Amino acid sequence: MITCASPLAQYESHRTEIDAAISRVLDSGTYILGSEVQALEKEFAAYIGTQHAVGVANGTDALELALAALDIGSGDEVITVSHTAVATVAAILRSGATPVLVDIDEDYFSMDATALERAITSKTKAVILVHIYGQPADLDAIIGLCNHNGIILIEDVAQAHGARFNGQRLGTFGTIACFSCYPTKNLGAIGDGGLITTNDNALQQKISMMREYGWQDRISMIPGRNSRLDEVQAAILRVKLAHLDDSNAARIAIAQLYSQLETDGLSMPKTRPLSSHVYHLFVCRTSSRKELLAYLKTNGVLAGIHYPQPVHEQPAFHNKVSIPHRLLNTEKIKEEIISLPMYPELEHESVEEVKYLISNFRFSAS
Ligand SMILES: *Cc1c(COP(=O)(O)O)cnc(C)c1O
Repeated sequence: MITCASPLAQYESHRTEIDAAISRVLDSGTYILGSEVQALEKEFAAYIGTQHAVGVANGTDALELALAALDIGSGDEVITVSHTAVATVAAILRSGATPVLVDIDEDYFSMDATALERAITSKTKAVILVHIYGQPADLDAIIGLCNHNGIILIEDVAQAHGARFNGQRLGTFGTIACFSCYPTKNLGAIGDGGLITTNDNALQQKISMMREYGWQDRISMIPGRNSRLDEVQAAILRVKLAHLDDSNAARIAIAQLYSQLETDGLSMPKTRPLSSHVYHLFVCRTSSRKELLAYLKTNGVLAGIHYPQPVHEQPAFHNKVSIPHRLLNTEKIKEEIISLPMYPELEHESVEEVKYLISNFRFSAS
């Protein structure tokens, strides 16, 4: 079977270093918030290009802590998209604020700036901008709108570790940026993990306290919780971070192979101008999705759908989100998107196999 992602293949390709990192932690006797987390925070901030990074338990917590640290909650509105991982919207709900969901553009599948502009009200406190699939969202237009309207920009970089816009890494554009280190993400732990980046000293301090009961010298000074990153995951992430540019380059090489496929029935992902795409996912569009998925599966290829249902259609979110205008592109693409296998260790032979299968598939005329 050729799968969409393979965290195991990544472990195997760095096994010696990862095993050594884990042993180092086991032997140290410090398992929570020790030297590994500290070193990872320093190295990740340097890599992204921010003053600070804070390790947390997962990407959803990163978003929840960011909103809480910015004092966003009940009575506030936070604008994001419905075409995202549920975590983005779930975090807003948990904060007590109202998620306001807007449409995406049809070329790059991320927040449409015009749709954002139409959804801004006097209650809008923040925008969570999702850099979906591995490339920058429409930063120029959206930063402009946020600045003009006094709205805080939070980046959701869970799918785009290392990607750049105008030469600058994602995670440096917002007041705060949130990363997930779920095992399949471009920078993935062997378990859960998350990171927050910011240039704001006060926010860094506040979030570092909030992730551990609001403690300062073991006294709770502000309301907090437990969202610690553990030492084992931090040590593993340090190994993976050192290889992140190489593994993103491997994803890009695979994308280039796929892009040589010439077929009328399948449209390939486009890269936004001035942007680098690190292909967390390789998402194509076809009007024959159902048939293509089944055909590939029969032939040993497990393609995926990211995502089959926009967040607003999922039962947990009924009547909990505000949708000021119709989500026409969101509705349209959900029937057509298909994610082809994409991970750094995917053999080029397997990519050629997938291409060969697709080139022999009969797309229905649309
Ligand atoms: C994975 C993901 C998250 C959530 O991260 P977890 O680590 O699973 O909590 C948030 N936003 C986006 C866009 C994601 O892809």
